[in-house]
Amino acid sequence: MKNTGVSRELDTLGRVVIPKELRTTMGLEQGSSLEIFYDEKGQIILQKFRIHCEFCGRAEDLLELRGKKVCRSCAGELRHQA
Ligand SMILES: [Zn+2]
Repeated sequence: MKNTGVSRELDTLGRVVIPKELRTTMGLEQGSSLEIFYDEKGQIILQKFRIHCEFCGRAEDLLELRGKKVCRSCAGELRHQA
């Protein structure tokens, strides 16, 4: 993880502005969706939303099962456990 060296304050509605240079670098446009993660160390991570496997997070080679995305690898593991 890289430190951008930028700090920003939350506004009264809890919003924070991502610097334009970083938005450009990350390919974020108005209307882009971000997923929000946090860990036990108190770090908050924003990740550009992408459709991914519910089990491992891979974004490639996805199948859909009952409205959930599953990669072929995880689907194979599930098949062996059945
Ligand atoms: Zn998977």
